[in-house]
Amino acid sequence: MGSSSPPSPTPPHAVVLPYPAQGHVIPLMELSHRLVDRGFNITFVNTHFDHARVVRASLSGPRAETGPLRLVSCPDGLEPGTDRDDLGRLTLSIQEHMPGHLEELIQAASADPEQGPVTCVIADQTMPWALDVAKKMGLRAVAFWPASAVMLATTLNIPNMINDGTIDKNGVPMEHRVIRLGPEMPPMNTAHFWWNHLGEPITEQIVFDYMARGNKSIETAEWVICNSFAHAEQPIFKHAPRIRPIGPLLPGLKPDRPVGQYWPEDSTCEEWLDQQLPKSVIYVAFGSFTVFDPRQFQELALGLEIMRRRFLWVVRPELTEKVNTAFPEGFEERVAGRGRMVGWSPQQRVLAHPSVTCFVSHCGWNSTMEGITNGVPFLCWPYFADQFIKESYICDTWKVGLRLCKDAEGIVTRGEIEAKMDMLLGNEEVMGRALELKEIAI
Ligand code: UDP
Repeated sequence: MGSSSPPSPTPPHAVVLPYPAQGHVIPLMELSHRLVDRGFNITFVNTHFDHARVVRASLSGPRAETGPLRLVSCPDGLEPGTDRDDLGRLTLSIQEHMPGHLEELIQAASADPEQGPVTCVIADQTMPWALDVAKKMGLRAVAFWPASAVMLATTLNIPNMINDGTIDKNGVPMEHRVIRLGPEMPPMNTAHFWWNHLGEPITEQIVFDYMARGNKSIETAEWVICNSFAHAEQPIFKHAPRIRPIGPLLPGLKPDRPVGQYWPEDSTCEEWLDQQLPKSVIYVAFGSFTVFDPRQFQELALGLEIMRRRFLWVVRPELTEKVNTAFPEGFEERVAGRGRMVGWSPQQRVLAHPSVTCFVSHCGWNSTMEGITNGVPFLCWPYFADQFIKESYICDTWKVGLRLCKDAEGIVTRGEIEAKMDMLLGNEEVMGRALELKEIAI
């Protein structure tokens, strides 16, 4: 009898669903690439709106139709032209419209003979209803948390904090004080709960209710994984062993794989960095969501100017409150040669560049992980949500950065920027700790 080889097993097929925000799409895309490297087929689900941005921005082409990683999309329920930075509105619409679409999309993905039947759903925990969809369809479910474990642990602790009177049922702290979620947990100021730093009170209320309700869904998840690493948040992983660190997930290190960025990266800044001396350039970037009021924007520009150091500054088109970003008069001429502005950078590669010496950052979690894994110290300028807790990690727990402080009018002045930069770059201890933490993280 002729021997015939056994049929090759069908690869696992995961549907991956991020919340439609840049800091969520990028790490889940990186996780998807890693799973593809391990033999998975992936159907990556963006909203139509985000899908169009990602495909437009991707330098290596859309690659949406073929291969083991398929980029697909479904509607978020909002009309074209609606402001998707209005998180309350976006969240309400997602919750109402996306569960049904996701179900249909899973059925369609399962029917694709090249990808095989969907075996599991990896859902951003900020899309908790997707875990319920997975359960309903008899699929295995994984909850992915794109931010720090402490933020997830705090969110999961909402019912306890309502019961013990730390917060009211709307998430508002009864008083501002320092608490601990457990005996060995890091101290946390109740004024820093992330859901109270989202801008408009109505947005905060909607997002708080949505996340508090979503806490139940995590029980459905077989695994709860988090883009963090053990050493960074040891007490949290001890306190909440169900949350498993799988990070840092660093995007953009392998060329020719879509990173999931919303804006095309301007890689000419890498050539500029190549021409600079080692450890001479300050990298200034505030992620995808931060908005400055025009006065603060001007003050930042003047701070960079008076420092008389080299800098690479990411100035997204929307960095100042929905108006065209206007530099102070004559600024570009005065900093020519030593200052470089780009609309969007290949951040991970920039931070890894030997010319970069420190990172002026809004303390978004991805940026924090990326700075740490490159041994770069921080000047912290948090903007919203959990970024104040990240600032505290950077300055108080890991001690790899310094805070920028606001004056009585709520402005970080040019003098403050210059003085703190001098303090940071003259601080051997902070620089040394940043390098130590890098060795642990990678
Ligand atoms: N990023 C980038 N180029 C830039 C600025 C940011 O590629 O010019 C990436 C950065 O590497 C990170 C993400 O955008 O992966 C921003 O996520 P983060 O959590 O730091 O901030 P958010 O955008 O969520 O506020």
